[in-house]
Order: sequence, then structure tokens, then C-alpha cells
Amino acid sequence: MNKIKVATVWLDGCSGCHMSLLDIDERILELAKHIEIVYSPIVDAKKLPEAGVDLGIIEGAIANEEDKHKAEMMRAKCKFLIALGDCAVTGNVPSMRNPFGIPAIFKRAYHENATVQQQDPKIGVPALLETTTPVHEVVKVDLYVPGCPPPADAIFFVLSELIAGRVPDPSKVTRFGA
Ligand code: SF4
Repeated sequence: MNKIKVATVWLDGCSGCHMSLLDIDERILELAKHIEIVYSPIVDAKKLPEAGVDLGIIEGAIANEEDKHKAEMMRAKCKFLIALGDCAVTGNVPSMRNPFGIPAIFKRAYHENATVQQQDPKIGVPALLETTTPVHEVVKVDLYVPGCPPPADAIFFVLSELIAGRVPDPSKVTRFGA
């Protein structure tokens, strides 16, 4: 039986949703019989295959040009796309900057809160978008899995159902917030 090919990305989030995925613990061995992770921050494979990815999982909101590019890349190459966690689903914590605007954020982060070398970062960091948005405002999402983070049991349920060929109802196993 061909394994389901899974890709995951971590955009503007804290990695907590990926940690929750790993909290599946030994049940990951059961999942590994059915899925192959082909691209993810938690495996060595760091190049998204050009085609044939069955399931994409996005953690985090879209805050900068690189996030936007990665979300579009995942949508283009994954047949089914999950927004995992409240940051991906609603914008959550990363979107709290939205009312203030970029100049005020930079002033606070890189000048008022910096004890040395107060300056705006200009080299080696992707440009911030004017606002941080949930994933579905940039690309179509097929399934929303809320939670901050979604519990490991909920992630296991969602993946198990998808492996079985069913589209799960995450509201049975998780909710917004903790
Ligand atoms: S939803 Fe919560 S745990 Fe997941 S990336 Fe956002 S802040 Fe972290």
C-alpha cells in the first residue's frame, strides 16, 4: 500500500503545534505505517517535492513575504491542506500586532526594547506584511483544526481519520484556545 505523503510547515507560530504533533508519542509509529513525512521542520527532508504530496499541514499565521510564499507553495503542491492551530486558523497571537502598524512595532521591538545596536533589521529577514492574517485569507484551506495548540489526541484523531479515508470533524476533539 502506498503511504500518504505529508508535508508540514511552520510559519508565524511558536512551534507549539509541531510539538503537539510530536506529543503523539509512540502512536507516531502507528501513523508511520501509513504516512511518510516528505517535508517538515521535524525531519531532515527540507525540499518540498514538486508533486504527489497528499496532505499539507500549516502551523502559524502569515506575517511576512516568506510565510505567504510558503503557504502558496503548500497549496500548489498539496492535495489537501490543514490549518493546524489557532494561529493558522484565526491569526491568534501573531495578529495582535495588527492594530499598531509596522513602524510602531519596529520602534518597540528594535529600539525601545533593545539595549544595544538599536536599529531596524534590514538584511536576512523577510519583509513583514502590513498585517498578519490567518492562512485562509491567502490560500484555500480544506480543514481547520483549532487549539493553542490542538491536543496531541486531536491531531492523532484527525490524521487517523484522514488515513481511513474520512474527513474528520475536529470540533469533536478540540476547541479554540488551550
Ligand atoms: S496555535 Fe498556539 S501553540 Fe500553535 S503556533 Fe500558535 S501560539 Fe503556538
